[in-house]
Amino acid sequence: MPAASSASGTRTGPPEVIVVGGGLIGALVAFTLRQAGADVLVLDAGRPGAAWRAAAGLLTPDGEGLRQSPLWASAQESLRRWPRLAQRLEAVSGQPVFFREGVRRLQAEGPAQVTPGEGSLHPPSVVGAARRHVPVLPARVLALTPGPRGVRVVTDQGDWTAPTVVLAAGVWSAAFGVRVRAVQGQALRLASALNCGAVYGPPARGFARYALTRPDGVYVGATSRASWRVTPDERAARWLRGVARQLVPGAAMGRAAPLVGLRPVTASGQPLVGPHPTLPGVVVATGHGRHGALLAPVTAQQVLTLVQAGAYA
Ligand SMILES: Cc1cc2nc3c(=O)[nH]c(=O)nc-3n(C[C@H](O)[C@H](O)[C@H](O)COP(=O)(O)OP(=O)(O)OC[C@H]3O[C@@H](n4cnc5c(N)ncnc54)[C@H](O)[C@@H]3O)c2cc1C
Repeated sequence: MPAASSASGTRTGPPEVIVVGGGLIGALVAFTLRQAGADVLVLDAGRPGAAWRAAAGLLTPDGEGLRQSPLWASAQESLRRWPRLAQRLEAVSGQPVFFREGVRRLQAEGPAQVTPGEGSLHPPSVVGAARRHVPVLPARVLALTPGPRGVRVVTDQGDWTAPTVVLAAGVWSAAFGVRVRAVQGQALRLASALNCGAVYGPPARGFARYALTRPDGVYVGATSRASWRVTPDERAARWLRGVARQLVPGAAMGRAAPLVGLRPVTASGQPLVGPHPTLPGVVVATGHGRHGALLAPVTAQQVLTLVQAGAYA
């Protein structure tokens, strides 16, 4: 078994919890478990198409029209938790996560709307900061096999055993008996120093259109279609250029890098957070669709509660 090392040192014994997938959900689950004192190991396969690499980072229950949705209460609770979690991530990692409040929603007529508390952050920085606090190994998990000594985690880099495994592999959780499908999203990162804040275009049929200033340029998003494809396509790029011309004309002509991510979506549209239906010792945390950045703090708290009630308490 390869040794895992991180800012928190080199592992000497088997971990109490193994987190499969170090994306927005897995990294923040691992961070939260570690903060609560658990000995955690993250295994991440570095999959092309991981949603966190393409995500905008908007924390906008109103912007996403969740007011009438069953997700409203947890979205509100998560939003309330984000400022403190962002502070903790920064304090522990020494890295900024670029959490900012203030998102404008342009209207067809009249002034823009702003919901107090809504904001944005930079998902790759969030994942990077959380991962600095826990050992992360590049490994692709191939099988999870519960047994009398815990859950055996079979990977392309060797095998581990832990009393509790958290399955947070995004759309790829489907390979482990979890019902999630891929909804591909494409976005553009424009090489521009323009400061446009964070803004949604006026309501229109079709995809949500938005732009925001991030540390890596101006982000414009995003398409949405049922597909496992992880390569960008020209049609999406043209549509995104149009969004850029409408929302950030000053940045629209700059160099653009395409981003493609696969959102993990369930049939009900609700995340799956709880015991795996058939694998004892495995807790599932996936299916966050287009709201994984928003819902990560509440999900991490739910997983902490489940894990504390189970194996290592
Ligand atoms: C274009 C776009 C824009 C978005 N904008 C927003 C937004 O503004 N706000 C918001 O809240 N959400 C947004 N989202 C949604 C958000 O990105 C997802 O909900 C979130 O990333 C899901 O997190 P996750 O950890 O479940 O999956 P992912 O982020 O996909 O991470 C899964 C991780 O698991 C790893 N993995 C996969 N299989 C294995 C394996 N077998 N073994 C080990 N590791 C494995 C992968 O390498 C990856 O790192 C957006 C998504 C897209 C695509």
